[in-house]
Amino acid sequence: MTKKKNFKTLCVHEGELKDTQFKGVVSPIYLSSAYAFEDVDIKRYPRYFNTPNQEALALKLAALEGGEAALIFGSGMAAISTALLSHLEKGDHIILQNDIYGGTRNFIKKEFPKLGIDFSFTEGLQSKDFNALLRPNTKGIYIETPSNPLLKIVDLKALSLLAKETGVWTMIDNTFASPINQRPLEFNVDIVMHSATKYLNGHSDMIGGVAITNSEKIAEEIGFLQNSVGAIQGPFDAFLALRGLKTLPIRVKQHNYNGLKVAEFLESSPFVEKVIYPGLDSFDQFDLAKSQMDGFGGIVSFYLKGNLENTKRFLENCEIFSFIETDPDSPIV
Ligand code: PLP
Repeated sequence: MTKKKNFKTLCVHEGELKDTQFKGVVSPIYLSSAYAFEDVDIKRYPRYFNTPNQEALALKLAALEGGEAALIFGSGMAAISTALLSHLEKGDHIILQNDIYGGTRNFIKKEFPKLGIDFSFTEGLQSKDFNALLRPNTKGIYIETPSNPLLKIVDLKALSLLAKETGVWTMIDNTFASPINQRPLEFNVDIVMHSATKYLNGHSDMIGGVAITNSEKIAEEIGFLQNSVGAIQGPFDAFLALRGLKTLPIRVKQHNYNGLKVAEFLESSPFVEKVIYPGLDSFDQFDLAKSQMDGFGGIVSFYLKGNLENTKRFLENCEIFSFIETDPDSPIV
């Protein structure tokens, strides 16, 4: 069976903990903050290993992305910052896609100079744009496709080919796709990260993150920094994510449907200047998006006609949608 056919079953069953005592069908929550050593050589302090609920979540997410190992974090930013810092040191250089989540951008711009790590944001999205920025000290390439907020797409196949040819690693924030719509490890990307706060949990009631890889060495490197800085997740949040994930394929299917309907509706509106949605024929990277994604998700960006006052009035008068987040540092261009 292919991974794709397995999704619904994996989401419900993979990694789930067995309740051998009472035969409950849902994974119990293990709150213990101390675990007896299995023998004197195997450390079992909760910060050093995935405790049962985190381990169940790690197994499920690794299976969904087609990876060998997953590390569960207290937030998406904890996963992203830990993965980056575990792979970079003073004097290194990293290339980043031009449009990425503002929190990641802010972290890099503020913290990397203090650490002596160099970075460059690309001008465009093609592999030649990344190639042009390669330096002898370049260690890695960081992308987010589709990106937040402009849903820009990077060619996963071309980029990981460039990375393999030039000997640098690749990291992707796959939050806006979810593993239902896109599995970057299939394109040989080295590390896939998510804010589990979004599609993966799906109910806006927990915060979490994950880093997934096929390399034991990468997992060990990230895992060491994770346990050193304590960027772990508590069992309640892991339990909630496990519960939310059971419906991921059904939710994402509906998001894909709703996203397209809303995008088409907005595109037909006389009040809208431009709609950005990878599933629209008018999207400038539609063919590329179609070639590497199985669906386009529930995020739609659009420009209203008029000025800032019109936009404010629009936001103040939305009856169903909530105005929940804005990032002043995102390059809204
Ligand atoms: N990546 C993307 C694409 C996001 O949109 C966000 C949050 O909005 C994050 C990462 C950070 O995730 P978290 O809030 O779980 O730290």
